[in-house]
Amino acid sequence: MKTIGLLGGMSWESSIEYERIINERVRESRGGTASADLIIRSYDFSAVEALQEADDWDGAARLLAGDARRLQEAGADLIVLCTNTMHRVADSIEAAIDVPFLHLADATAAAVVDAGITTVGLLGTRYTMEQDFYRGRLGSHGLEVVVPDEPDRTTVHDVIYDELVRGVVDERSKAAYLDVIGRLAERGAQGVIAGCTEIELLVGPDDVDVVFFPTTRLHAEAAAAAALAPI
Ligand code: GLU
Repeated sequence: MKTIGLLGGMSWESSIEYERIINERVRESRGGTASADLIIRSYDFSAVEALQEADDWDGAARLLAGDARRLQEAGADLIVLCTNTMHRVADSIEAAIDVPFLHLADATAAAVVDAGITTVGLLGTRYTMEQDFYRGRLGSHGLEVVVPDEPDRTTVHDVIYDELVRGVVDERSKAAYLDVIGRLAERGAQGVIAGCTEIELLVGPDDVDVVFFPTTRLHAEAAAAAALAPI
């Protein structure tokens, strides 16, 4: 079994879900006392948030690329970045390592394509919804991406930073998200991507009438499959 290097803590509320899902998959596959072989670099999220707010993506790239390299040197056979937003600097991370980098948008797009969906809604941080690094990557898989209009984008973004990364799960915010998802469906979205790793702590597939793509689960399952694949 391969060793997975996790860049996590963004936020830890979702990173522990990565760890749980990957370990569950390994147990299902190997049985007995088997569990995943992980090396985790978990950040103080307030430092990462400060880089985002300062628009210091070069600083963020240096931080994550350096740590990805250190995970590789510590024995990681593949690298997983446990946040959609910080895939903004995925190219820098990939350039710093020689082992595979499992891109979250690729794992997500594969699930959307498998479901036979071509037009998909995207919820996430403002960075993920508005910038090209994520939407463009989904588009490269042939997907048409629909993001919420304002003020819905502000609502979705604020719930992430003011609540979900702080461990707050509020029924009123869930209702607001369901309204946003309804409006995406009215605009033609056949499915919706929970494109922030904390969103699935708030909303699940049973809450919505469209197909729901939970990025933490999809990415973690792809990571486990890669680790379990024969070398
Ligand atoms: N975990 C979130 C994401 O998937 C947001 C936190 C962050 O900015 O990294 O985008």
